[in-house]
Amino acid sequence: MLPKLKLYDTYRRGLFEFIPLSERHVTLYACGPTVYDYAHIGNLRTYLLVDVLKRVLELNNHLVKHVMNITDVGHLTSDADIGEDKMQKGARKHNKTAWEIAKYFEQAFLEDLQALNIRLPQVLCRATEHIEAQIAYILVLEKKGYTYRTGDGIYFDTRKLVSYGKLAKLKIAGLKAGIRVDLGEKRQVTDFALWKFSRLKAEQSQRQMQWSSPWGVGFPGWHIECSAMSEQYLGNRFDIHVGGEDHISVHHSNEIAQCEGRHGHQPANFWIHGYFLQLNQEKLSKSGKSVLLSDLVELGFDALSYRYLLLCSHYRSHMNFSIEALGSAGKALQRLRCSMQKWPDGGAVDVHFQQQFLQHINNDLSMPRAMAVLWAVTKSSLKGADKKATLLYFDQVCALDLDRQVMKVSIPSAVILLAQERQQARLNKNWLLSDQLRAALLQLGYRVKDTAEGFELVAT
Ligand code: AMP
Ligand code: ZN
Repeated sequence: MLPKLKLYDTYRRGLFEFIPLSERHVTLYACGPTVYDYAHIGNLRTYLLVDVLKRVLELNNHLVKHVMNITDVGHLTSDADIGEDKMQKGARKHNKTAWEIAKYFEQAFLEDLQALNIRLPQVLCRATEHIEAQIAYILVLEKKGYTYRTGDGIYFDTRKLVSYGKLAKLKIAGLKAGIRVDLGEKRQVTDFALWKFSRLKAEQSQRQMQWSSPWGVGFPGWHIECSAMSEQYLGNRFDIHVGGEDHISVHHSNEIAQCEGRHGHQPANFWIHGYFLQLNQEKLSKSGKSVLLSDLVELGFDALSYRYLLLCSHYRSHMNFSIEALGSAGKALQRLRCSMQKWPDGGAVDVHFQQQFLQHINNDLSMPRAMAVLWAVTKSSLKGADKKATLLYFDQVCALDLDRQVMKVSIPSAVILLAQERQQARLNKNWLLSDQLRAALLQLGYRVKDTAEGFELVAT
């Protein structure tokens, strides 16, 4: 029997049983990358959370419709709606057009996901391809009286919503009192841009991404893309919305405000936030201090070692990255794969361990505990074949390619086959054949050592 799936909802600040809006189909929206540079390993931690969540939902017999946006316009360097569009800045840095870098970094991002066994969403939608939907959304907000115009754009008037900031438990009064930043023409510090103008002729000629709109030539604000696209693909009420913890106070609070303004309710039943990965206790940033997945691969690590490392900490706690920890993760993964290789096929999933695993993953995706169950299986008295079957069942969520053949490069598959045959001969107590195969392996340059787990091959 499946234990109840419980997830932590930031909006209600608690753990709640997950009951989807429709019995089998789960609608999931995840905020995607701003494609002005490579995603760093911190960003990838958040996408891994989405992947684990999806896999857990699927193991709970749900069909998931997953939508993710690509922010290729409108995300400014400051959350206070001032500063430059990150895409424009990225274009200058890389000496390419904003369109070119959007395409290039989106592709690089998708390759990172693939290397980490993070499956792609059903819908991948780009902000620049949904300008009309965003304009239509803003028009409704305008008609309902939630907007005002300044010299540089159309803004959402957060004072019009009593519930504004509920997700972040924002203390609006405190924000006003402590404010030191220049509000410009904004009425409240929490107000945010829905549409920004390319005001001056010079600005218009420099900006590579701009569109005409009922308010003049310009580009959409960052938050409106997620409201417009989530609604287009999932409707105005869906099951789960995911993003990094930094989105709680601004981006997601503003997405909620837009939906409240348009529909009178917030969009998602569950708000799930991944806590940040840090580097020596410091923040990672795309443009500053950054480590990429490709850096780790260049150092000789298997990308899935990083996945393994991420699975060892809970998504609702901060995690500090270190190369030493990655090295240990890599070794652990290698050991698992070696064991798997020695165990024969044809076993059955152990129900007792399966239940333990399900209990943990269904308890707010407690992957570190689920990983402990995985190791308990390897050390248990189960038959090798059953261990293998049980680990393969777990791998539907862990996605560590546990059945990947290791030492493929250094040990030819023919040699591994011979060693497996020898192990089978030993199991059948056919000592003669077993000895013959040992001799054959020696001739090929490999000494076979019998271990508690099965065997080990050592090059002579
Ligand atoms: P961005 O491309 O900057 O819009 O960020 C993409 C995603 O990564 C967002 O969901 C962010 O909240 C998340 N994110 C940013 N930095 C980190 C970090 N250090 N650790 C985990 N997630 C992060
Ligand atoms: Zn978003």
